[in-house]
Amino acid sequence: MPPQNILNADLHCHSVVSDGTLTPEMLAERAKTNGVELWALTDHDEMGGQHRAAAAAKAQGLPYLTGTEISVTFANETVHIVGLGFDPDDAEMQQGLRNTRSGREQRAMQMAESLAKAGIQGSFEGALKFVGNPELISRTHFARFLVESGVCRDTSEVFRKYLTEGKPGYVPHRWAALRDAVTWITNAHGIAVIAHPGRYKFTANEEYALFTEFKAHGGQAVEVVTGSHTKQEFVKYAETAKEFGLAASRGSDFHSPDESHTDLGALSFLMGDLTPVWELLAGRIQ
Ligand code: AMP
Ligand code: MN
Ligand code: MN
Ligand code: MN
Repeated sequence: MPPQNILNADLHCHSVVSDGTLTPEMLAERAKTNGVELWALTDHDEMGGQHRAAAAAKAQGLPYLTGTEISVTFANETVHIVGLGFDPDDAEMQQGLRNTRSGREQRAMQMAESLAKAGIQGSFEGALKFVGNPELISRTHFARFLVESGVCRDTSEVFRKYLTEGKPGYVPHRWAALRDAVTWITNAHGIAVIAHPGRYKFTANEEYALFTEFKAHGGQAVEVVTGSHTKQEFVKYAETAKEFGLAASRGSDFHSPDESHTDLGALSFLMGDLTPVWELLAGRIQ
């Protein structure tokens, strides 16, 4: 396997174990077909798909790293921290993720109440029809229901008109602390990665604080090349990676063939002057 920057690594995607529409097995097959050379399944706040994903990758002859994407609250914003290469049977991390998932059902009921006030009835039951894991009802499942019921044309329209701050259906939520998420991953022998930094609505000072605190807690990498980043953001976060001495990750954030703009493996390569996160994880590849 070429260990350098031109490896087609895809270290961020979702299955039915969180808010994706494909099974871990279907994703492994799709990754292989698309030419992915190193893969990780990173379901939100969940490791329940890890053994299936690793087995499916092995069956495809596809090198695999364990993965998850932890929801964190930092400076009153939701930030996502990807974990890679950890032990999926680590008890402390399992408990931490269980706690992180635990408020989702109540939040979903509040989202449904808020949508009902805006004239959209039955969205809790409607969203549940799309849920693959009862502990992981997410905004994405509500978005699929609003598309199915004809309220919006596609899920991006749903997020524009509903479910985001200031819009009907948005319910603020407190997720894990940054320090805890990074510590769970690191203590389970994995590497913590700041996911899609270009998506957060931070001021320059808040973003600087995020990177500084992440690094102080033991975080080691940042996603530079990811599905929601523009070319300018590739350049910006490559500079940030170098400034903070962080390794760089690459992942599509693929959720569904019908919804995701970036397919598995269909990303620009990491720039040559960055340290790929998989160089730090060579001993953890299965
Ligand atoms: P939750 O964890 O329930 O808050 O849901 C977050 C998920 O919603 C993300 O992981 C995405 O899959 C999806 N999402 C958030 N914002 C958008 C958006 N603007 N367009 C499409 N999907 C989005
Ligand atoms: Mn998602
Ligand atoms: Mn995310
Ligand atoms: Mn994601």
